[in-house]
Amino acid sequence: MNDPGMNDLNVGAVPDMQHLATMLAERVSDPIAAAVIGSMLTQRGTGGAGSGSHERELQQAHGEVQRLRAALSAADAMAAYVADTFGACPACWGLNRFCSRCHGHGTPGRAEPNGEVLLAWVEPAITRLGLQLVPAAQPTPDWSNVQRETTE
Ligand SMILES: [Zn+2]
Repeated sequence: MNDPGMNDLNVGAVPDMQHLATMLAERVSDPIAAAVIGSMLTQRGTGGAGSGSHERELQQAHGEVQRLRAALSAADAMAAYVADTFGACPACWGLNRFCSRCHGHGTPGRAEPNGEVLLAWVEPAITRLGLQLVPAAQPTPDWSNVQRETTE
């Protein structure tokens, strides 16, 4: 409720939901979150016209934004955990060639993985597949100069 970004929304002159979606999307720095918020508010606006006060809808939208921010924060924390565990780029896991941190080269193993956590996490799944993890007899090859195959 004390989010400074929401304070300058003029509640007295209630904007239509499309306008509200645009305004909120512009205030969120993360483009994916902005798209989700815009999409949700646009959907809400097409189904509920005239069914409640605009102020209540604005409150609901604000609550939805708060909920989405919390969900996004949790997802970011999980993504960072996975990246750290696998030694991947924390921003894109090496999936984005336009990534400012790794330019798409931050795939798992690019940095030192957290071996203890990684093994504890993946070994049960490997075992379930009937496979076994064993130490390499020779040092692992350096795959950093190998070109990735693309299907594009
Ligand atoms: Zn990256």
